[in-house]
Amino acid sequence: MRIIYILFSLFIFALPALAQQKIAGFFGERATSQLELEKKFDRFLNASDQDKWMQFLTGKPHHVGSPQGKANAQYMAALFKQWGYETELAEYHVLFPTPKLRSLELLGKQPYRAKLEEPILNEDRTSGQRDQQLPSYNAYSADGDVTAELVFVNRGIPADYEELERMGISVKGKIVIAKYGGSWRGIKPKVAAEHGAIGCIIYSDPKDDGYVAGDVYPEGPFRPGQGVQRGSVMDMPVYPGDPGTPGYGSVKGVKRLDRSEIKTIMKIPVLPISYEDALPLLKSLQGPVVPEAWRGGLPITYHAGPSKEKVRLQLQFNWDIVPLYNVIAKMKGTDFPDQWVIRGNHHDGWNNGAADPISGMVAEMDEARAIGELAKQGFKPRRTVVFCAWDGEEPALLGSTEWVEDHAAELQQKTVAYLNSDGNSRGYLGIGGSHALEGFFNEVAATVPDPQTGVSVLERRYARGLATADKGARQKMFGNQYMKIGALGAGSDYSPFFQHLGIPSANIGYGGEGDGGEYHSIYDSYDHFTRFKDPGFQYGVALAQTAGRAMLRLANADVLPFDYSILSNTINEYLGELKGMLDQMRTDAELENKLIKARVFALAADPQKRLTLPKEQSPVPFMEFSQLDNALSAVRTSAASLKSAMQEASKLDASQLLKLNACLYQAEQKLLSEQGLPRRPWYRHQVYAPGFYTGYGVKTLPGVREGLEERNWSEAQERIVILTKVLGSFNTALQEAIGILK
Ligand SMILES: [Zn+2]
Repeated sequence: MRIIYILFSLFIFALPALAQQKIAGFFGERATSQLELEKKFDRFLNASDQDKWMQFLTGKPHHVGSPQGKANAQYMAALFKQWGYETELAEYHVLFPTPKLRSLELLGKQPYRAKLEEPILNEDRTSGQRDQQLPSYNAYSADGDVTAELVFVNRGIPADYEELERMGISVKGKIVIAKYGGSWRGIKPKVAAEHGAIGCIIYSDPKDDGYVAGDVYPEGPFRPGQGVQRGSVMDMPVYPGDPGTPGYGSVKGVKRLDRSEIKTIMKIPVLPISYEDALPLLKSLQGPVVPEAWRGGLPITYHAGPSKEKVRLQLQFNWDIVPLYNVIAKMKGTDFPDQWVIRGNHHDGWNNGAADPISGMVAEMDEARAIGELAKQGFKPRRTVVFCAWDGEEPALLGSTEWVEDHAAELQQKTVAYLNSDGNSRGYLGIGGSHALEGFFNEVAATVPDPQTGVSVLERRYARGLATADKGARQKMFGNQYMKIGALGAGSDYSPFFQHLGIPSANIGYGGEGDGGEYHSIYDSYDHFTRFKDPGFQYGVALAQTAGRAMLRLANADVLPFDYSILSNTINEYLGELKGMLDQMRTDAELENKLIKARVFALAADPQKRLTLPKEQSPVPFMEFSQLDNALSAVRTSAASLKSAMQEASKLDASQLLKLNACLYQAEQKLLSEQGLPRRPWYRHQVYAPGFYTGYGVKTLPGVREGLEERNWSEAQERIVILTKVLGSFNTALQEAIGILK
């Protein structure tokens, strides 16, 4: 066995020297010329131009609706035009609230009025642009004037409320204070309102991204005492985009929902604050000391509340309709103009937005410029490439969602794939997306050099994974450089392409060595970025090499490099997880009920703390998975046959090849269900969705998984039937592709 293995490895390693180089999707000699093209592409990338563009784009605050936002769109459009792209500014009109009144006071004997202002720093040249800055606030909070006692709810996710209930604390009629982190921020006020709270304050604890994490700005990169994270709290797990035009493009003059009819605007007032403003509020809390995992890095004993004195929160917003400007730059393909490969990053920031989003934007611009230069030398892409700069991502993925909704049918017909980035920094390659592209991205990553070490970014990522894994896992990982890509939840502009239209998508970025606490504050600036995130834009170039190669390969491939056996095996893993979870829930419930009957919790509790004891749980039923198992097994068989049949693709004539490619890139659309997910029909993908109660966090096989997690057994069973059905249509698409190859 060992000898065979050694011979086999020798054969593999000797192969590149003997035969021509291979890349998935390219026939014969064409692989070699594609690799040469990529070398030429690299030579046009230029870190100092990325630096220059960033200086312009971050010169002033550039949120949606701001003069600088429009100027930035025009600046980029002029460059794309200069590089040879047909370029347009796609304008939409969207609801974007900005603050009119913000006030937070602790009442009583030792009153405190929150400062709600980030200080100007000499070391940060753009921090003093007061007249153009957006103050710290949460977009799509309700207007309100509420006065009540305060309760600390940890991260503010459902599990935290279960813990509070055990402590005998209710938030009904109270204002809650939650730490950032642990969920997308919009989940915190949503869950608070569901539990009867009348207001919500969110603060950045120094343990997460302040002085406990590292030196604070300007000495180090972390969040200073008065630094605040802005951000949207619109209920985007229901639908993103302009809240007044769900499901259709908000072009000028279109019918809009009245604000009172919009369900995704937060029901209660919400305000983000700094840890210096949070300290007096947290000090006023009484009641039990919170569990250890809830405690942060402030020099106090953390209590759950309620507070002795009341807190008053007043918020009023300008509910304006503002214009947004997406930049859409197209270069028509020479051979397949009606097959589009789309690349995007947003251009709006909460203020000067250097890391988020301009660091990703300038890498994308560099890719577009390099492809433009190649085209001038006679190497035009075979498929159409489209470069997009989205406006209004920060409030609610406004620009991308409106554009996608406006062009939905055409995009479903023509789009091969959508590649997104949303910022970048020094570190390791991270990719999430459609698992049919996993093999493809492994090949791409193997050819991109890591700027700091010279090995491939694939090898560097592997080394990082291995070095940080626990000892047990290392043995299994050693020697296997294969990169598993993550699943995508939400939080950036891929969402409308991927989860609404079923277009194969990926999100790409480098990170892990550029940590800091500037996120969504006025300190996310050029000065901060070039000191702490990616000095010299080396990883800006690495991102352009990675996404640029992916664009060029998808644009030029003879047969598109989708591997549906990886996707179907991944679905199988997810299904295994769900079954395992259901079994675990059943065993846990049985044991818990046994312990309750034996009075274990009652006897173990501290009688002076008067904790509420756990209640008996209803038994966890068995679900009917057999139809789903059969459907998935058929999909896996088809995907494997398609993979081996693909070796015959080079024998197809041009029209058969065109048909095969269309079949390949549209197959994932079959994983959509028309009626979407329960309570959120906009999300139609049945494999990937953002969690209803986690936000950014992905839920795979979301319909079934959330039904089980929420113990809604009948809904889970209904969703198993729907998943079985979409797998059936997906299988038909794979069979169709096999048919073309036979
Ligand atoms: Zn962003």
